[in-house]
Amino acid sequence: MIFRQLFDPQFCTYSYLIAARRGGEAILIDPVLEQVPHYLGLLASLDLKLVQAVDTHLHADHITGLGALRNKTGCIAAMGTNTRCELVDIRLYDGELIKVDGLVLRAIHTPGHTPDSYCLVMQDRVFTGDTLLIGATGRTDFQGGDAAAQYDSLFGRILTMPDETLVYPGHDYKGRWVSSIGEQKAHNPRLQVDSKAAYVEMMARLDLAPPKMIKIAVPANLQLGLPQQDLGDGAGPKMLEIAALAPFAGV
Ligand code: FE
Repeated sequence: MIFRQLFDPQFCTYSYLIAARRGGEAILIDPVLEQVPHYLGLLASLDLKLVQAVDTHLHADHITGLGALRNKTGCIAAMGTNTRCELVDIRLYDGELIKVDGLVLRAIHTPGHTPDSYCLVMQDRVFTGDTLLIGATGRTDFQGGDAAAQYDSLFGRILTMPDETLVYPGHDYKGRWVSSIGEQKAHNPRLQVDSKAAYVEMMARLDLAPPKMIKIAVPANLQLGLPQQDLGDGAGPKMLEIAALAPFAGV
C-alpha cells in the first residue's frame, strides 16, 4: 500500500494520499487548495490516477483542494451526505464503503464538530478529521457544532474501536502525526469525562478565538474551493511528507 501523510505548515492540516500500488488509483483525504500543485507532482511521481478526493467536513480554517483537484484530474469530489456544499459529486452516507483499487474505506457519520463530520476507517487506522485530534477534540462552537452530538460520536463510535487502531487526525499544531485509540482514551484530556453533561460543559468553557480564515474559507468551501486563483506552481509553503514508516509518535 502507498500511504502518504502530508502536512500543510500554513494551516497545520493533514491530508492523506492512499493507493494500493504504484501505477494504480488513489484517494486523497482533506486536500488543501494551496498544496494542489504538490499533490499533482506526487501523484505523477508515483504514477497514480486520483479517482476520488474526500473532505471529512466543511472546513472553516482553510480552503479545500477538492474543486481544483477535480478540475485537474477528473476525480470525484465527495463529502458527507448532509454537507451544505451543493457541488460535490457524491455524498457519502453512514456506513458507505469507498472502494479504490482493492482498498476499502468505510465512512462513518460522526457529527459534533460540524453536522457533516465523517471519519473514514481503513484496515488498522481511522482518519478522524476534526472529530478526534491528538490530545484534543474538534471545537464545537461554530458551523452548527454540537458538543453533545460529538460526545456520542466519540464515545459511541470512535472510542469503541480496538485500542490499537491508529488515529490519523485532520490537524495537529504540535508536530504529532499519529496516535492510537488506546492512547487517546488514556491520555486525551478531553476524553477524561464521566458524562455527556460534563463534556458539554467543558466544551462550552473553551472560549476559543474564531479561526482566522472562517469568513473566507466557509464561503469558498461551499463552492468546493472554487473559483480559485491561478494555482501557479505552488509558491506557498510546501507540504511536508511524513515518512511512511516514521516512528510511532505517541501522545
Ligand atoms: Fe474543522
